Amino acid sequence: MQPDVLVIGGGNAALCAALMAREAGASVLLLESAPRAWRGGNSAHTRNLRCMHDAPQDVLVEAYPEEEFWQDLLKVTGGQTQEPLARLAIRHSGHCRPWMRRHGVHFQPPLSGALHVARTNAFFMGGGKALVNAYYRSAEALGVQVRYEAPVDRLEIDADGRFVAAHTVAGERIAARSCVLAAGGFESNRDWLREAWGRNARGEFPSDNFLIRGTAFNQGVLLRHLLEAHGADRIGDPTQAHMVAIDARAPLYDGGICTRIDCVSLGVVVNREGERFYDEGEDFWPKRYAIWGRLVAMQPGQIGYSIIDSQAIGRFMPPVFPGVKADSLPELAAQLGLPIDTFMQTLEAYNDACRVGRFDHTVLDDCHTEGLAPAKTHWARPIVQAPFYGYAVRPGVTFTYLGLQTDDTAAVRFGGAASANLFVAGEMMAGNVLGKGYTAGVGMSIGTAFGRIAGRNAALAARQQPLCTLANVIADDKEKNAHASA
Ligand SMILES: Cc1cc2nc3c(=O)[nH]c(=O)nc-3n(C[C@H](O)[C@H](O)[C@H](O)COP(=O)(O)OP(=O)(O)OC[C@H]3O[C@@H](n4cnc5c(N)ncnc54)[C@H](O)[C@@H]3O)c2cc1C
Repeated sequence: MQPDVLVIGGGNAALCAALMAREAGASVLLLESAPRAWRGGNSAHTRNLRCMHDAPQDVLVEAYPEEEFWQDLLKVTGGQTQEPLARLAIRHSGHCRPWMRRHGVHFQPPLSGALHVARTNAFFMGGGKALVNAYYRSAEALGVQVRYEAPVDRLEIDADGRFVAAHTVAGERIAARSCVLAAGGFESNRDWLREAWGRNARGEFPSDNFLIRGTAFNQGVLLRHLLEAHGADRIGDPTQAHMVAIDARAPLYDGGICTRIDCVSLGVVVNREGERFYDEGEDFWPKRYAIWGRLVAMQPGQIGYSIIDSQAIGRFMPPVFPGVKADSLPELAAQLGLPIDTFMQTLEAYNDACRVGRFDHTVLDDCHTEGLAPAKTHWARPIVQAPFYGYAVRPGVTFTYLGLQTDDTAAVRFGGAASANLFVAGEMMAGNVLGKGYTAGVGMSIGTAFGRIAGRNAALAARQQPLCTLANVIADDKEKNAHASA
């Protein structure tokens, strides 16, 4: 039987959409391209949601007001963000967690070692895998039909931008009254990454050395189809992405968070020539970790080496594989295959330039370098205490920012006009808020906000009722939350 609402994708954004559409009374079919065991896309790898709050809220300490969240986003994106949509996603994050709880998501305070985030980020108990499982359970209990191994490769859209039907790779045509696209970015598509990144001045194809942190299923098939076959309005630059420097030994796909190397701000990072190339102490790690993948992508051979000494041990979340360990810096360079002379010149210049004040990794402290380019502006301490450790790092792509343009109703747009019944959420539209840069936890803030409004509007569109906006969802949440606590 034809569903009212078809949801394409099986991660956080798709599930939020499916739950909202079902709660609004629509019949819902969700098509996930992955098998059941791999369901949930990148969302299954997540840990937390960035949340505004004006006062302490269960697991969140102190306050993180809208303005501060907005300024954090403004800073990392360098202004490449659409303020009205960004502010709605931010406001939504302050009120959505009771709804998430009603669908089985639980929260916990961060473990020690997850720096600086107890105030800003609510952690999912059991991580993103538990969140995704809870949403699937709730969706199925509410009667959402779920089909796995059901990748969609094209849509029928009429001349007015109205969704008509979707076609699965297996050749099935599925018509519905409305549709939500939540099929992720194109980060897993290595050919598309190669095309976007091209060849650099050294003759390298940088993306050939990228690793993909999450699912192998986000191939961007529908994103490309919407942009090229249907001329949907696009947003974002195909080379912009959330990119982390990860352990070079990580697998090509699905290495997840345990491959992150989180000691960058506690030491220095050199390229394969043994030279530093960026300020490792520019800002708190959760605000900077997502630029390091790109920085490493610009280096020869797309590889970097994060170097620390024993003073750093215990101050960061240890990676799953131990680093290379040596009793002296030249020995470390030799083990890492780095040119020893240049490496030692770099390390000696850095050590000499350090002006150590009061080291405190929990604040932007006054330990900095003087007369060194690039500078290290915080947490600069000479690397002198054996044993020394080094980790080879590669660019790890988390998700791409090229997407479909949308508005506060989550409608897909064609030639500037909003589709009446086709909506988009999650990575497929995150570029509306994230033109570049990243601040930890905002991917889930965007996906949850736009997944929810997309689902509600898909249900309304299926009944040919006027659409609502994300502001309406926030107002409803506030009312429900006030009622529940009264
Ligand atoms: C290792 C890692 C850690 C992360 N940690 C965090 C974090 O702690 N906090 C945070 O905010 N963000 C985090 N992110 C980013 C976060 O995962 C994304 O912002 C968010 O999950 C995007 O949700 P989504 O639903 O749009 O995409 P996804 O969760 O990736 O879901 C996309 C879904 O679409 C399916 N699909 C793809 N193509 C098709 C098709 N053609 N037909 C049918 N289905 C299709 C996929 O199988 C998948 O189920 C992390 C990402 C990774 C990789």
